Amino acid sequence: MNENNCPICEDELSWKGEYHCDSCDESFKKVGFCPECEAELEKLQACGAANYFCNACNELKSKSKVRFEFQPS
Ligand SMILES: [Zn+2]
Ligand SMILES: [Zn+2]
Repeated sequence: MNENNCPICEDELSWKGEYHCDSCDESFKKVGFCPECEAELEKLQACGAANYFCNACNELKSKSKVRFEFQPS
């Protein structure tokens, strides 16, 4: 199942260095939010894997629990 869909028209987003909706001609960035405190998470790139860190909780969050949102960039 594709999880990268346009928040406006639900079309599949394409990846061009950032997420892009061809239908809306709009670019988006994927933002993660803490499942505990709803704070915006910091994306840490380590060894090819992305980790998400909450500055408010002061801990790493499991990617499976992170809530993702696409915001216009
Ligand atoms: Zn769209
Ligand atoms: Zn948090």
